[in-house]
Amino acid sequence: MAGKKRELQLQAVIDNQSLWDEMLQNKGLTVIDVYQAWCGPCKAMQTLFRKLKNELNEDEMLHFAVAEADSIVTLQPFRDKCEPVFLFSVNGKIIAKIKGANAPLVNQKVITLINEERKIAAGEMVRPQYHEVALVDSDSEDAGETCYENVDELYSIVIINPDAVNARKVLEIKDKIINAQFVIEAEDKGLLTAEQVRYFYSQKADEPDFEDFVSFMTSGLSYILVISQKKEQAPPQDESEANSETEARETWDDQQEMATCVGMKHKQDSLQEYMRRQHLSQFCDVEENITNTKLIDVFFPDFKIMKGIKLEKILALLRPDLFHEKKEDVLNIIQDEGFKIMMQRQIVLSEEEAQTLCKEYENKDYFENLIKNMTSGPSLALVLLRDNCLMHWKQLIGPSTVEEAREHLPESLCTRFAMESSPINQLYGSDSLEAAEREIQHFFPPQHTVALIKPHVSPEQREDILKLIKEAGFDITQVKEVLLTEDQADKVYFKIKGKAFYKDVLEILSEGPSLVMILTKWNAVLDWRRLMGPTDPEEARLLSPDSVRAQYGRSILRNAVHGASNTLEAMETINKMFEGFLAENPEEN
Ligand code: ADP
Ligand code: MG
Repeated sequence: MAGKKRELQLQAVIDNQSLWDEMLQNKGLTVIDVYQAWCGPCKAMQTLFRKLKNELNEDEMLHFAVAEADSIVTLQPFRDKCEPVFLFSVNGKIIAKIKGANAPLVNQKVITLINEERKIAAGEMVRPQYHEVALVDSDSEDAGETCYENVDELYSIVIINPDAVNARKVLEIKDKIINAQFVIEAEDKGLLTAEQVRYFYSQKADEPDFEDFVSFMTSGLSYILVISQKKEQAPPQDESEANSETEARETWDDQQEMATCVGMKHKQDSLQEYMRRQHLSQFCDVEENITNTKLIDVFFPDFKIMKGIKLEKILALLRPDLFHEKKEDVLNIIQDEGFKIMMQRQIVLSEEEAQTLCKEYENKDYFENLIKNMTSGPSLALVLLRDNCLMHWKQLIGPSTVEEAREHLPESLCTRFAMESSPINQLYGSDSLEAAEREIQHFFPPQHTVALIKPHVSPEQREDILKLIKEAGFDITQVKEVLLTEDQADKVYFKIKGKAFYKDVLEILSEGPSLVMILTKWNAVLDWRRLMGPTDPEEARLLSPDSVRAQYGRSILRNAVHGASNTLEAMETINKMFEGFLAENPEEN
């Protein structure tokens, strides 16, 4: 009996229409197991539900129910079916349906929707415009797969292949896509995994050279774009903006043609056909108007969450007095408020820099003193990342003067960290996203380094390492798989040629292809060495347990990764491995 009671507590029992209507009023997400009286609710999923309830329900946003199809009119279409069906109700609407006891899919769906609800409740995201799911039990749907039938838009995926990336075609392709009235909803670049390639190109799997194709697609950087169609047709581009009349005409013709396609409601081959006409088919593949969410999930597991969030980067600054006296307090608040500190550096501003960053005070009588103060000692410059970063940072720090802040925003950091020495806000933030880009480029100029993932690292570990690299803010600018024979290895390891262990290094490098990369970010050389950790994995596990070598290194020779030790070594290796790269990207290093 105790067991029965626990079940009842876990899932509300809905066995008539008025309980059903009441259930729709639940705050947050309700997961409903639709069952038939003759076979009962799906026991197999209850363990998962219990786990989810324990893990996710601290704010009472998550509810579970069992609903008997036979006694609820709304659920009539599900009567006499033997396959379990799970419905997801949010804000009074059934917005998703999963057929079959597919625990991983249900798990993922619950986590995604709960995260959304929390973001909406916190004011960080607008509620997505879901359509209500049609409550029909169509057998044509694949069991266990959700469909985007419930979402406002249909998406297409474009993969720009490694040849196109090497031929620097990406910008052209993206421009053409945008000019043709499509919206790039998400994009990423990286090395595709064999699994991703096989999934995306599954219809080609029987072709005789498919394995070669998979090797090609996983051999270098690809771009993956999620595309939607613009709802309303934008006015045609002003011809005077285009470079020449012919170009203007081409763009205009494309727009007209695409507008016709859009008007024809998801004409099946529109984007694909457009790519073909633009002679871009050899560079990219298109999967149009997809209804299977997994196709997006394999590339962008958080796509739905990402779509509602506007991730922004800005420059923030703690002026010298504040940096000197209260740095730790401020950094703690910044992190507690959900900002990710992507980069930070101490910097003594030049007079010109101080004047630029204090422009808003240039007409004040204290301006001269302010510039003196700003150049008198180190400030702390930060690159912050967050959804709606610009707005959140402005709200957190408050107005530009202490007087204003005390009057209107006593909670702001401006008031809390006011300094006797100065009437202004001790914290600075970029004024716009354009200014942010300019300022970040100025204070954190990018640098290139060379990185290598050694042959003993498994494909899964390689993926994990690439993820760590991206999370640490590196841009993977170039990448290629190379079997480092003695000649090739010399280009990377010329520094240790005289060492006794050099022949051992050559031997482990000959075991298979290595992944050679150019990583780009501010302070890339040092930051990549820090992320790699000490040469010997044993030492790394003691001194730097989160480092790549600590996690993936097996021995001093099989220590997972390589990185240049200084900028000179980085440049020399890049010149040898990626000829012409530094000449074409001269501003850095
Ligand atoms: P790092 O890779 O940290 O820059 P080095 O440039 O000194 O280190 O060495 C290059 C590679 O040679 C190391 O990554 C490691 O695999 C190997 N190595 C270095 N020292 C030894 C050693 N004492 N015994 C064996 N192999 C070594
Ligand atoms: Mg070295």
